[in-house]
Amino acid sequence: MASENAVWFAELTMKEVKEAAEANKVIILPVGSVEEHGFHLPLCTDSVQPEYAAAEAAKKTDSLIAPPLKYGICTATRIFPGTISISFQSLYRITREIIEEFIRNGFKRFLILSGHADEEQMAALRLAAHRVMWKHREEAEKRKLRIMVCSDYDFAYELRGKYFDEKDGHGGTIETSRVMAIKPNLIKGKGRKNFQKLPKFEVIVDSRELLPEGIRGDPTVASAEKGKFINDYIIGELVKLIEELKK
Ligand SMILES: [Zn+2]
Repeated sequence: MASENAVWFAELTMKEVKEAAEANKVIILPVGSVEEHGFHLPLCTDSVQPEYAAAEAAKKTDSLIAPPLKYGICTATRIFPGTISISFQSLYRITREIIEEFIRNGFKRFLILSGHADEEQMAALRLAAHRVMWKHREEAEKRKLRIMVCSDYDFAYELRGKYFDEKDGHGGTIETSRVMAIKPNLIKGKGRKNFQKLPKFEVIVDSRELLPEGIRGDPTVASAEKGKFINDYIIGELVKLIEELKK
């Protein structure tokens, strides 16, 4: 079992990294965003969550966490103050280059974990992973090289309809609770509930009428206890993925 300070890749020495590659350790790359999350949550909300989940899962599986990417692609919330969005090409390209460099250093197992689950973000990450696999086709075909791409919200949203409102979303009960459990000092007040829907098919640039406070869901019923429950569930699911990746 790794000690707590041994999970951050960038804190290792040259010698330790070589040993980690020889041990075929899994590299987790957390990806976030700089995005408004209402009046009650910080812009770093989508980074705080996957970085925490990655750290806990890495400790349990003796894995390493790559220096996180803290910018992402945000479209629906771009009209609000604080959202700093990068292009699809930029996210695609930096992800691809980073994974390539880890491969050059001898690593072969990757979990790309995005706290920002928008379609564009996930598509850029998935395409980058696919192109890397394609480039190293021989190893990929033999499953010597493996990459998984997911969002912690793939798991968090499994809890909707059971423990949380089916329509809970951006800055709602789940997200607010999770941040309350991880960094309570970053919470400013309670937020206000809003269950209006963004259109499913139409592309819009001004979402202010539908998301008056930039969120969807009910942050007023969030709690640190709920957040711990959600975070623990996600960490358990990530541990399963990492154990599968090690095979
Ligand atoms: Zn978010």
